[in-house]
Amino acid sequence: MPTVQPGYLSVVATPIGNRDDISARAIATLRAADVIAAEDTRHSRPLLLHHNVDVPLVALHEHNEREVVDGLVRRMLEGQSVALISDAGTPLVSDPGFRLVRAARAAGIRCVPVPGACAAIAALSVAGLPSDRFVFEGFLPPKAAARRSRLQELAGEPRTLIFYESSHRVAESLADMREVFGGAREAVLARELTKLFETVIGEPLDELAERVAGDPDQQRGECAILIGGRGEEADARLAEGQRVFALLREELSPAKAARLAAAITGAPRKSLYEAS
Ligand code: SAM
Repeated sequence: MPTVQPGYLSVVATPIGNRDDISARAIATLRAADVIAAEDTRHSRPLLLHHNVDVPLVALHEHNEREVVDGLVRRMLEGQSVALISDAGTPLVSDPGFRLVRAARAAGIRCVPVPGACAAIAALSVAGLPSDRFVFEGFLPPKAAARRSRLQELAGEPRTLIFYESSHRVAESLADMREVFGGAREAVLARELTKLFETVIGEPLDELAERVAGDPDQQRGECAILIGGRGEEADARLAEGQRVFALLREELSPAKAARLAAAITGAPRKSLYEAS
């Protein structure tokens, strides 16, 4: 019996907004696949039609990935080639696909990246924040207490931080970031990248949090938040904040003194209050 050559898995990036942000190689790969595993087949069909890709689709999303993976691995072992796409950007980046890639690699199947758009990298490329080193944090926890404690863990991080955030929570998250990182920390909101209403605003967290809270238009669409890492000036600011806090504390309650010292020096209110 002739031995079957296994197929391979292509992990294909699709646009994050502008339909033309897809490479010629990505389109050729999708056309040549035996099957395309898509996060939401209804969402991907118009893009595939637009690029004349007529290949059967199977749904692979966070709720069925476990069940679908075995069948796809079997198909590849039988010689078929599978292309994986998500709703937008690079699969596996805050998107499904991890289990499939892991299972394929464990079965000895070749996994081929077909790179392209990724909102985190697109945002970093125009943020004007240090980009030689950065940390991708994906989505913060949706509940306030868990979100704040995650931010607290990141408060000392010296590298640029990149978050994805839902438009419903962007104002809340920026308010928490201001509280935990201090109002003077550099921040960038990158919204609707590659789309009609693309907006990139960079300013200290104090101003950005105020602006977004006061403008419902800044709470629409898809957004990424980038925060400059903690630098030496942050340490100096905290020391100054502590000095001012100690003076105000002689006359005021800890909460009031911390609020004023944070407003005067840009030091994180939370750190001042907690140290009291
Ligand atoms: N896999 C995608 C990638 O490579 O960027 C990310 C998928 S994740 C489920 C979706 C999140 O990415 C959105 O909630 C938003 O935070 C961010 N995002 C996606 N498209 C964006 C865009 N055009 N502009 C800004 N942020 C975007």
